[in-house]
Amino acid sequence: MVDLHSHSTASDGTLAPAEVVRVAIDRGLSALALTDHDTIDGIAEASAEANRLGLDFLPGIEISAEYPHPGTLHLLGYGIDPQSTILRDMTKTLLAGRDNRNPKIIDKLQKLNVAITMEEVDREAGGNVVGRPHIAAILVRKGYVGSIKQAFDKYLAPGGLAYFDKERLSPGKAIGMILESGGLPVLAHPIQLRYENDAQLERVVKDLLDVGLAGIEVIHSDHDAKLVEKYSTLAERFGLLKTGGSDFHGTNKKIELGIANGRRIPRQFFDDLVSAINSRKAVASK
Ligand code: AMP
Ligand code: FE
Ligand code: FE
Ligand code: ZN
Repeated sequence: MVDLHSHSTASDGTLAPAEVVRVAIDRGLSALALTDHDTIDGIAEASAEANRLGLDFLPGIEISAEYPHPGTLHLLGYGIDPQSTILRDMTKTLLAGRDNRNPKIIDKLQKLNVAITMEEVDREAGGNVVGRPHIAAILVRKGYVGSIKQAFDKYLAPGGLAYFDKERLSPGKAIGMILESGGLPVLAHPIQLRYENDAQLERVVKDLLDVGLAGIEVIHSDHDAKLVEKYSTLAERFGLLKTGGSDFHGTNKKIELGIANGRRIPRQFFDDLVSAINSRKAVASK
């Protein structure tokens, strides 16, 4: 079994990259992909630890693209080359989007008489990727809310008192940059698109396919058995890869590495993904 969707302290997870690798091994997984939001800062550490301990490892990234509210469109990029300058430029742009947004959230919270500063949030985040979960953790710790979920519901989610959006890439641009940096783009957790009907879901997938989508995340912690079935059928119909992961964030969320809504992720997903990445590289180098 494997897990192809995980976060570390490089973004909004609570475990260091090497710790995520060690948990994967403890939990009996044979392969892992680290897919931090907007950054590859954790890849070198995770990859070295995986190498040392004999775990198959795939570098990844997760990018949030432009999409109408209340849905969200996240793209996973697998097998990206950490040396790619296109990738580095892209992560810089994405971080700038966060650096523009975060102070607005903090300002608004201060106006609501919440005692919180940007310095505290930066300290909470540790790394370069500063996200709403870090703000949420502080709100919980200071007793303004009872849980991370409440922090989102009351303050940080769309419609919340201190919600601000960040600039995003268009889906086409995000997919293009993943492809150009040697990776394969996969639509993450389709349920979060909040499509109104199957026709709308298919339209989104078709549009993404036109600009180079390579796969769909069929197994995910937000997907029940019916959804896994639905997305598997969709992937097969469109000739897309099937992937799966827990979306583990450490103790930030009640999700265990390697288990997505009670389901495990088959090794085959990892093997097929790696084959597809490698055959694309072979074609590119000819
Ligand atoms: P950001 O990257 O700063 O825009 O924050 C988005 C991250 O916050 C997501 O990747 C999730 O990890 C987390 N998140 C988003 N919505 C919620 C929610 N309603 N409850 C808990 N965590 C959430
Ligand atoms: Fe997250
Ligand atoms: Fe996501
Ligand atoms: Zn994720």
